[in-house]
Amino acid sequence: MIKKLIYPTDRKCFFCYELSNNINNYLCSECYQRLEFIHDYRDIPSDRLNGVYSSLLYTSITKDLLHKFKFEDGNYLCKPLSEIMLETIKKREINNIDMIISVPLHRLRESERGYNQSYLLAREIGNKLGIYVGKDIVIKTKNKKPQSKLQYYDRLGNLKEVFKVKRKEELRDKNILLIDDIITTGTTILEVSKVIIEAGAKSVTGLTLTSTNHSGKIKQ
Ligand SMILES: [Zn+2]
Repeated sequence: MIKKLIYPTDRKCFFCYELSNNINNYLCSECYQRLEFIHDYRDIPSDRLNGVYSSLLYTSITKDLLHKFKFEDGNYLCKPLSEIMLETIKKREINNIDMIISVPLHRLRESERGYNQSYLLAREIGNKLGIYVGKDIVIKTKNKKPQSKLQYYDRLGNLKEVFKVKRKEELRDKNILLIDDIITTGTTILEVSKVIIEAGAKSVTGLTLTSTNHSGKIKQ
């Protein structure tokens, strides 16, 4: 049996599917009001990594949104979620970006899911800003235990040499915006940015849809 997809219409919320006259950014005002916007900045000390920005605090609604986006064929949620990230780009005046890249999934995980959720976000953002989005430039070479099942110190080891750059020449002297759906400890962004910098990029700025904590830091 072919699973039937229900596409939300103009007046339907992309998340709760309720009909509403108050649709803002594909979401109804009830859902929108539950989102906790932080437009956070986190400094992760590393060579040529400009830190990481995050749009939303990871709360129960963002958890459900991400679950739908990643595991329940909710790929259309890249529309409202990328708009939210674009707000952070505007508010934080993130500019001087030459190229956008997403944190890769292992190819087996990606074919299981049918898409890489972070790439969908990157593609939407790139389209809106008119910035080139690099696909499959950074790849994930080992499919180890999911990060969430590991303790913090194991995570560092778990990610070692997992990310590889395939087409170095595309990164040379570029200022990269690196997109992911969530930041917890920051090790994933850190590891990916390291291989991008090693490949010759000029700088990396991270941007994630959600963050599990709010650093409260304002970039000077
Ligand atoms: Zn709604």
